[in-house]
Amino acid sequence: MKIVLDIEHNKYEYEIKSLISAFFISAEFYRENIIDKDLYLRITYELDKAVINIKKDNCIKDSLVVLCGVKSKDIIKIEQKIYEEIQFLYNKSLPWGILTGVRPVKIALKMLENGKSDEDIIDYYVKERYLSYDKAKICTLLAHKERELINNLSNSDMALYVNIPICPKRCNYCSFISKQSTDNDYIEKYVQALINEIHQMSGYFNNNNIASVYIGGGTPGILSAKAISLLIGEIRNNFNLKKCLEFTFEAGRADCIDDEKLSAIKSSGADRICINAQSMHDVTLDKIGRHIKVSKFYEAYEKAMKYDFIKNVDLIYGLEGENEEMFLSSLNKVIALNPENITLHSLSYKRNSQIFEDKNFISSYGFDKCYEILKNNNYHPYYLYRQKYTANAAENTGFSRAGYDGIYNRLIISERIGVIGLGAGAAGKIYDKETDNIARVAGYKNIDLYIENTQDAIDKKLRTYGFI
Ligand code: SF4
Repeated sequence: MKIVLDIEHNKYEYEIKSLISAFFISAEFYRENIIDKDLYLRITYELDKAVINIKKDNCIKDSLVVLCGVKSKDIIKIEQKIYEEIQFLYNKSLPWGILTGVRPVKIALKMLENGKSDEDIIDYYVKERYLSYDKAKICTLLAHKERELINNLSNSDMALYVNIPICPKRCNYCSFISKQSTDNDYIEKYVQALINEIHQMSGYFNNNNIASVYIGGGTPGILSAKAISLLIGEIRNNFNLKKCLEFTFEAGRADCIDDEKLSAIKSSGADRICINAQSMHDVTLDKIGRHIKVSKFYEAYEKAMKYDFIKNVDLIYGLEGENEEMFLSSLNKVIALNPENITLHSLSYKRNSQIFEDKNFISSYGFDKCYEILKNNNYHPYYLYRQKYTANAAENTGFSRAGYDGIYNRLIISERIGVIGLGAGAAGKIYDKETDNIARVAGYKNIDLYIENTQDAIDKKLRTYGFI
């Protein structure tokens, strides 16, 4: 879909593009006018107003938005008007309204803390941000869950994330930075670099209590049983985990899971495990380049059952060749296993993927239906976040059985805790409670460079934390 955007001084262009992309996932933007455009949008600014002209075929809509000079409020007003016009021209609404950010629950959390009632918050989401009532209600519910957790944190609490950005094979939908390798020597070198970072970094966080640990990736399950024990042991010996509430190991792909590794994970003290199915259809798994049979997933899941982990299973909505029916059948198969957590991801379509070429996007109807299905099976949402370029701008939602809400995910999404990020591609966070400000601590993204220049990668993080 070709869209001409003629915005004076490119003011608020990012926000406007994000909103239009939420309506039209395949939107291509042009600054200059083109003959075969599908939509034309022009915005000019005067002192205290924005003049918006939108044209589709022969239908022209002109409107004027009065601005107050406060950027955050002006953006909302402009987005509201653009949303209304597109909704009218295309007879289309979005469940998330004008919200395009990663953390829609943050608004509710802030409002709760400012003493607003659930009704006020839902009202605000629906009337000001144009969310559907259901989404507004979920955000409000999840804000209560985040608040409950945050209220119990002490100032010295931090979360710890350890990244294993290596996978035995790349799945063709994946947008993570992860290196394809099965070379044991290479994996060993990465683990050694990581342990070096653990030793140095932990010295600066002696006075911090680690509230939650997450070893993610990539595919942490690619590590040998020996490396798993070593890594978890080093984390336990060097950081203060005395009051740690949760320790998760994202095993990932079923073909990387065996008894020896599961035993190593459990005996070293991790209590949660993720086994990611993505789909319960062999035909889909082959299509997405994840050549693991569903039978292998069942096998891995059954093995994990013996070790008494809290288990999470991931599924992805919108995978190539899957319709809603296929996704719901995958969901029902996973529910039948009764894991403590199920996480549903909406696929974030890569711009150069086949789905993008074919413009064959799934609607978010099937995803919304999952909430009902999961509720009827005693699962409730406990955290959510969003990404761009998903079907109907849909979300990613973690569901759990009563008593098993994941802690790490809620903490990270709340952005109310500092994070120590270890390894290549792991971003830490510095949280300032006084100002409620969160700053990113970036390290090396490239794993080869991280292995080659480990000291520099560590120093880069230490400098951002302000330790050196
Ligand atoms: S296993 Fe996960 S991280 Fe690795 S390539 Fe596949 S989707 Fe990406």
